[in-house]
Amino acid sequence: MSNEKYEFFKVIQEYLAKAARVVSLDPAVETMLSQPKTEVIVHFPVKMDTGEIKLFKGYRIQHSNILGPFKGGIRYHENVTLDDTKALASMMTWKCALMRLPYGGAKGGIKFNPRAHSTGELQRITRRFTHALGSNIGPDYDIPAPDVGTNSQMMAWIMDTYMNTVGHVNKQANRGVVTGKPVASGGTLGREKATGQGVVHCITEWCRESRFNLEGSTYVVQGFGNVGAHAATILSRFGASLTAVGDHSGYLKSPEGFNPHKLMEWVKQKGSVAGYPSGQAISREEFFATKCDIFVPAALEGQIGPAEARAMECRLVAEGANGPCTPEGERVLLDRGIAVIPDVLANAGGVTVSYYEWVQNKRSESWTLEEVDAKLETAMKRSYGEVVNFARERDVDLRIAAYGLALDRLQNVYRERDIFP
Ligand code: NAD
Repeated sequence: MSNEKYEFFKVIQEYLAKAARVVSLDPAVETMLSQPKTEVIVHFPVKMDTGEIKLFKGYRIQHSNILGPFKGGIRYHENVTLDDTKALASMMTWKCALMRLPYGGAKGGIKFNPRAHSTGELQRITRRFTHALGSNIGPDYDIPAPDVGTNSQMMAWIMDTYMNTVGHVNKQANRGVVTGKPVASGGTLGREKATGQGVVHCITEWCRESRFNLEGSTYVVQGFGNVGAHAATILSRFGASLTAVGDHSGYLKSPEGFNPHKLMEWVKQKGSVAGYPSGQAISREEFFATKCDIFVPAALEGQIGPAEARAMECRLVAEGANGPCTPEGERVLLDRGIAVIPDVLANAGGVTVSYYEWVQNKRSESWTLEEVDAKLETAMKRSYGEVVNFARERDVDLRIAAYGLALDRLQNVYRERDIFP
């Protein structure tokens, strides 16, 4: 990856324009979808453990709510920017439309490094951000969820802060203001692993179509957080071996294969893969050049540019992360015959199970893990099939097919409703 700033939002707008041509999208609809509906930026003070007051910058970008309430994760990372958050919010609109979920798209974040803060500080930052967002979020308006740097604990803090600021009468009806909560606080079984699980459903569908046997195959994972670690543990159940892994701390290889469960425990305790006993440290270049069958990027956007794509020795890239391939990187992969399952399809399992959580909150129900898993499997396989068929019929790649299907559905709604006034 070059050091130039990766213009993520511009890239998403280019995919939109390309897919719009494929589905003959009404130019007015394209114009409306080319920018978010609302961009909320807040600055809020938080008291640090030392007593010092620090000012934080937070975003909530609401791209579209034509299909339902705004929906999308909250990211805590030092590189969070307005433009990247706009890109991620737009992608949520396509993802929800593709998965036929009654949601629009949104994304939020705070520009800071959560690893540099104590649990107490993280709690105060999260609560103060929630308070600063105020009525810009709500269970029928805009529903955040975890993303990079956030987890179920932070969702519980958001829920609690929101519930305690909306008044007593509606308090209990407001649990659904966030998804990805801990199960005891109104979360659903199966949400924690849902994104990784969805990635694996796409991989197994690709294997079935390509007559490729996962048993005895190898895979590598970049980013060993929620998405990467769960995708790895689930893939290992199919007899596939994790031979290289990496995160913000660096990269490791293990030709005989890592135990992803033990590695996950290590990361939970130590905060990164660094120092994991059975791994040999390798460079980022060596990591990307690792020969394997399946490559799962599950870290950040813009990781696979042309240089990485030329070095990669795999059959399939399953995008657990949002935007991990640059357009140039993807072009190289496809030209080299490496298949790419695009983010808006591959990582849609997270928002799909978030929807199941929200429905359970609305109905005061608790579904079994089997129910959640079965519904997710059906939803992922149906969408995978639809994307593959669309790509074949229109002779486009899977990313443009996924965008095309989503845009077609959005356009139908605009046709029926027209615009106000
Ligand atoms: P996470 O915070 O749990 O994990 C992120 C991982 O990326 C960590 O292992 C971190 O060390 C690694 N990382 C960070 N910076 C890196 C760098 N410069 N180089 C290499 N690795 C780096 O986040 P997550 O929830 O697993 O999200 C990962 C990706 O998946 C993101 O693109 C996110 O938008 C996407 N995603 C997440 C969900 C979800 O449900 N959590 C759903 C859909 C998509």
